[in-house]
Amino acid sequence: MNGFADYEYEEWREGAACADDTEGIFFPDEGDVGAILRAKSICADCPVADDCLAYAIETNQSVGIWGATMPRERRKLKRQWIEEIRRAS
Ligand code: SF4
Repeated sequence: MNGFADYEYEEWREGAACADDTEGIFFPDEGDVGAILRAKSICADCPVADDCLAYAIETNQSVGIWGATMPRERRKLKRQWIEEIRRAS
C-alpha cells in the first residue's frame, strides 16, 4: 500500500459531483473566496473525493480544486505522504 487510492481515471470521473459544473468554480481565481468555498462544499459530498484527491496529487495538478483541496494544500499532503512512505520503508 503506497497511501494512494487505486483508481482508474475514467471510472472515478463518472461519479464526480462536479460533472455538471458550468460555472467553472473548480478553477477559481486565487482570491475568489466565494467560488472556493462553493467548490469545496460540493467536494465535501462527492462520492469520489478520495480518488479525485489521489489523482490530483499523483499527477501534480497545480491549479484548481481537487478533492476539496487547493494546490498549496495538496503540496503539503504530498510531502506528508512521502514522509510516511519513507518511514514505513
Ligand atoms: S472531489 Fe470535488 S473536484 Fe473532485 S470530482 Fe468530486 S466534486 Fe469534483
